[in-house]
Amino acid sequence: MTSDHAHMTPDEFRRHGHEVVEWVAAYMERVGDLPIVSTVAPGDIRARLPDAAPEAPEPFDALLRDLDEIVLPGITHWQAPGWFAYFPANASPPSILAELVAAGLGAQGMLWATSPALTEIEAHVLDWLVDLLGLPAHFKTAGGPGGGVIQMSASDSTHLVHVVARDRAVRAGAAIGDLVAYGSSQAHSSVERGARVAGFAHVRLVDVDAVFALRTEALRDAIEQDLAAGLVPAIVTSAVGTTATGAVDPIAEIAAIARQHGLWHHVDAAWAGSAMLCEEQRPRQAGAEHSDSYTFNPHKWLFTNFDCNVLWVADRAPLIAALSTLPPYLRNAASESGEVIDYRDWHVPLGRRFRALKLWWVLRSYGAAGLRAHLREHMALAQELGRRVDAHPRLERVAPVAFALVCLRHADGNDATDALATAINAHPDLFVTPSEIAGTRFVRVAIGQTRTTAADVERLWTAILGGADGAA
Ligand SMILES: *Cc1c(COP(=O)(O)O)cnc(C)c1O
Repeated sequence: MTSDHAHMTPDEFRRHGHEVVEWVAAYMERVGDLPIVSTVAPGDIRARLPDAAPEAPEPFDALLRDLDEIVLPGITHWQAPGWFAYFPANASPPSILAELVAAGLGAQGMLWATSPALTEIEAHVLDWLVDLLGLPAHFKTAGGPGGGVIQMSASDSTHLVHVVARDRAVRAGAAIGDLVAYGSSQAHSSVERGARVAGFAHVRLVDVDAVFALRTEALRDAIEQDLAAGLVPAIVTSAVGTTATGAVDPIAEIAAIARQHGLWHHVDAAWAGSAMLCEEQRPRQAGAEHSDSYTFNPHKWLFTNFDCNVLWVADRAPLIAALSTLPPYLRNAASESGEVIDYRDWHVPLGRRFRALKLWWVLRSYGAAGLRAHLREHMALAQELGRRVDAHPRLERVAPVAFALVCLRHADGNDATDALATAINAHPDLFVTPSEIAGTRFVRVAIGQTRTTAADVERLWTAILGGADGAA
């Protein structure tokens, strides 16, 4: 082998690694100055790539250079402090460094035996989080019948629990074609899609009230009609923080209905779950302690870069019953002892990487107190923005301020509201997403970027005022 075909040596890796870390650090410093939304046209990025893969090795400098010349123009800067669009997908230095270490270890945690640290740190950190979010001890793997597992996304977790609920109902004798899944009309699309993925023929997205929370009478009516028609209600998903407006469903009442009819009750707290680190927020999800499963995304609002979703189940037995298989090449003494967790039985993929490392490093680097302080600041900024909207003659809120989400519109209606969103987004360092609910256009302001401060919200407010006047 000639030296041209040699692997990068550890010394070269060290040198280029320092360059890459420097590049990322400089990105953090300048991300707020870059145009926040990529404006490339479809195909622009591909057009800058050669037609064929390089036959000869390229120097690392060329790879780094193309980050600036090819990649950055096609990046929309989710990590910019002026990011108020969709929901945050925030990140932090300890999380980014943990990703590097996880890649360096290159370990695969499909079984406890294939790298015990991956499984044990994940199980332990998710048990910590049960306490940090005020969830019940039976969601823990240590001592509890339940447990937590990291998945790629909240959609994966919601799809998965629909599969588990289907499996449980079919084992109990129901015909798959009779099973019914429920959520509200404001439920995330993963509820409908998850039910479809799991083979449900019937999905009911029931009515919401004036603040966009599920109406329990509508749920009861739907279940009773389905029972009368000979169908089998199997699962209901309730939301803590809907995607559109951050609404919270009446979790305790839904839990009672689920218990009465033997439904699996799944709580989707994908975005707002992080807020539960703050004790004062927990009354909003009272009743979640009776759920069968609960999911939230540290990759949205807990400074842990994508991907990192947590799913807890109150009882891991039906999950494992639905998913476990045992091909001979995976047999091992530890698994057979029954004393270890094999996470391959807790989700659809077999292989899994060390995502728990970044969550562990985030929790240790900030401490729970540090995380709470940041979350509380985001929520306080949202409350203050909500007050300003309420006090403005030409602006209205379309929903209560929810956690760190403010939904506002222009009093003159939909066209003025769209013009307001356009005016805000004309600022190259601000980004909000317009949305619509029941025919009403509105602007969502989701506060939660890692480096967003009061000064950034002030900049946004100035842009809102300019837009509100301009549209009038
Ligand atoms: C963001 C969100 C999801 C989807 O999260 P992914 O991790 O992107 O799948 C699901 N439900 C709610 C309520 C959300 O806010």
